[in-house]
Amino acid sequence: LTTVYTKNHDQLDTSHENKSSTHRDHDRFVKEVWAINYFRIQLIIKILIAIFAALLFFDIAFDKYPVLFSIHLSAIGCSLLYWGMTALAKKRGFNDSIYWQMAFVLSYCFLMVTAFGFTALFYYIKDLIIYLLPVFAVGLFILLSPKHSFIFFATTHSIFVLTSIFGTTDTYLMVKNIVNSTIAVILVLVFMRLTFQMKQHEFEQRIIIEERTAELETINQRLHELATTDELTDLPNRRVFIQSLEQEMERAHRYKHPFSVMFLDLDNFKHINDTLGHSAGDAALRHFASALKGSLRDSDMPGRMGGEEFGIILPNTDLKNGALLAERLRQNIEKSTVLYQGKKITFTASIGVAAYSEEISNIDELLRKVDEALYEAKAEGRNCIVQKA
Ligand code: GH3
Ligand code: MG
Ligand code: MG
Repeated sequence: LTTVYTKNHDQLDTSHENKSSTHRDHDRFVKEVWAINYFRIQLIIKILIAIFAALLFFDIAFDKYPVLFSIHLSAIGCSLLYWGMTALAKKRGFNDSIYWQMAFVLSYCFLMVTAFGFTALFYYIKDLIIYLLPVFAVGLFILLSPKHSFIFFATTHSIFVLTSIFGTTDTYLMVKNIVNSTIAVILVLVFMRLTFQMKQHEFEQRIIIEERTAELETINQRLHELATTDELTDLPNRRVFIQSLEQEMERAHRYKHPFSVMFLDLDNFKHINDTLGHSAGDAALRHFASALKGSLRDSDMPGRMGGEEFGIILPNTDLKNGALLAERLRQNIEKSTVLYQGKKITFTASIGVAAYSEEISNIDELLRKVDEALYEAKAEGRNCIVQKA
């Protein structure tokens, strides 16, 4: 019972810990967001490099679009810089290169938006789309929190507006470009806010599911323990004992190994309960069970069959060795005393041993044989062993 309560306590403690771990969850969310951004930006870089290579192939890049050419070149420069930085970070042992990634992604987006903005102003000023393309690209592909996306676009868009004011001679075109681009940037900001919130919601749901799964796992584990272990003695219960016996029979049959089974029943146990009380009896049973566990090999499997009756499966043990072990156990039980509230409790046990043989076709036959051996030991006057081939 003590173990049951301690275990419940542990469980409560961990669930309490889980609730105060929102900070850790936040860190995890930030990392996930930047892992997504990192992946997407790598993809964009690859696409840009492919476009650049294609333009070079057709020999039109430098002649017709010198600004595009320089932007592509800076994209390649950025990628190389980034790869160099992460390689360095790894070499220095910074496995967590998430902040390198952040710095890179942000500076790269910034470069894209401003570079395209300038291109739009000085070369293709009539065509606003060349500025809006990178704005939408960043808005669609990069996950930024509402605060960060506002800071980012406020900066890039201010540069665009200022250059428009000082760089455009046609006032009508200037006003039209500023108004249209500002509306576009606001739309992009709203979109970014929505996608970010969706991501956040999805993450929170996932955390809840993870927490519940972990909770269920501990509960399941506890239920499994309760269903398979005897609470008083912590030994496997009758059901598990029978299951193991079935498995051992199969194994013995297949590999032609010998094995034995032993039943122990404490003698006149009712007398202990009647004279010293039920809790003294419980203490004696607990003591007996732990002494039993201590005196067996790891491969031997003890179990509590019920009441003051115990069973032991002895793999790879023939009847002769099983009987030797039974006799040794009997003597140890006879000699040992349990101290309970200052009173010494002594008891003896009767033991029946039977060996598995090929003639035994099912588990009931084997159990009957061990039962008979135990019955005979009782009939012979208790505190003795009886073996059955
Ligand atoms: P025998 O030598 O014939 O086995 O005599 P016995 O008194 O041991 O056998 P009997 O079957 O008459 O009584 C078994 C006793 O074991 C009765 C019951 O009170 C006691 N017992 C069974 N389970 C527990 C338990 O979990 N705790 C305690 N304290 N006693 C138990
Ligand atoms: Mg008994
Ligand atoms: Mg009994």
